[in-house]
Amino acid sequence: MPDELDAVLAVLTEVAEDPDRYVRRWRESTGGKVVGAFPMNFPAEIAHAAGALPVLIQENREPDVHGRDLLAEFYCGYTRNVADSAAKGRLDIYDGFFLADHCIQLLGAVDVVRAEVPDCPVYFGQLPPSLGDGWTLGEARRMMREFVEEMGRFSGAPVTDAALAASIALFNENRRLLRELFASRRAGNAALTSGQLQVLVKSSMVMDRTEHTGLLRQVLAGLGSVPRDDRVRLHLSGHLCHAPRPELLAAIEECGAIVVDDDLFTGTRYISTDVPEDLEPVEALTRWYLRRDAAAPCPTRVKHETDWEDHLVHAVEASGAEGVIVLMVRFCEPHMLYYPELRKRLNERDIPHLLIETEHEGLPVETVQTRVEALLERIRRSHQEVPV
Ligand code: SF4
Repeated sequence: MPDELDAVLAVLTEVAEDPDRYVRRWRESTGGKVVGAFPMNFPAEIAHAAGALPVLIQENREPDVHGRDLLAEFYCGYTRNVADSAAKGRLDIYDGFFLADHCIQLLGAVDVVRAEVPDCPVYFGQLPPSLGDGWTLGEARRMMREFVEEMGRFSGAPVTDAALAASIALFNENRRLLRELFASRRAGNAALTSGQLQVLVKSSMVMDRTEHTGLLRQVLAGLGSVPRDDRVRLHLSGHLCHAPRPELLAAIEECGAIVVDDDLFTGTRYISTDVPEDLEPVEALTRWYLRRDAAAPCPTRVKHETDWEDHLVHAVEASGAEGVIVLMVRFCEPHMLYYPELRKRLNERDIPHLLIETEHEGLPVETVQTRVEALLERIRRSHQEVPV
């Protein structure tokens, strides 16, 4: 890998591993406001158009000290970590918080944020979780307009359509470049590991988009072509709201697999859908929200036209993946409730798969590797079986 590419990846990796440091540096150098956004559907373009830095709040690596006292044991690791960060004062780098999602665990964590960071405004505007009803479009449009107005009050000046249109174009370009890198991997270029691809997405959730887009262009320019080898091709599925640990992704690939596609939040789910540039901005953001689920079906949304299981099987066939690893955040209720449908469809299609539950506290890597190796062995053996 050329030195320049290494250097760019090192910058992005540092941001992905320590978003707080980047945020502090950005604040010092610009004097601007930082919006802490919660996953998964708040449109960061609105905060950017207001001149703020939108940062999708990431899980950090610190052991939880307060998280288990502030939220019940059965809250997911991400939400307990958010509560823990709030109690430790780690969220003091934000000037305000915005969220659009109603996962009950996330709302619990945000209540802790309200209590622990009392001087910081928290704005919760619920985008309709039901996507196919007659009232959905109007309600989503109303909510999107409210987000824009609320962001104007937060920043001290109305957010103009011109600023929104410029932010939408910039974010689309950022997503387009990221999709190009994922498409390259899907097409057989193994130059970047799944951990490195995750770094690219995670850093985009944190960094100033103009800066990030410039770095992405450098990654694309410096990316060589490494032909796909005979490693077993896998699809990673799931892991809503936050990133799986890099060592988990590395452990999977070290077993002799290559991840050719995914639908992870810190992967293709986050970059799946562009905001239309030929519509009035609020309308465009509304359409983005409503189309997003068609491009990457999510178990937190209610709809009739799209199914995650169909999407998953189609993606597996398109990428030539030979198996699926489902990464499930422990106690993530939406994913837990949906998983039986995924398993049923994968079984129907004879697609080998493995479920790995993740926790904030980490995973015993050896145990994971043993299970992944067993999956890979099963896949390899299925290639050797001769039909009678
Ligand atoms: S959707 Fe799942 S991972 Fe996200 S906050 Fe809710 S429980 Fe946690």
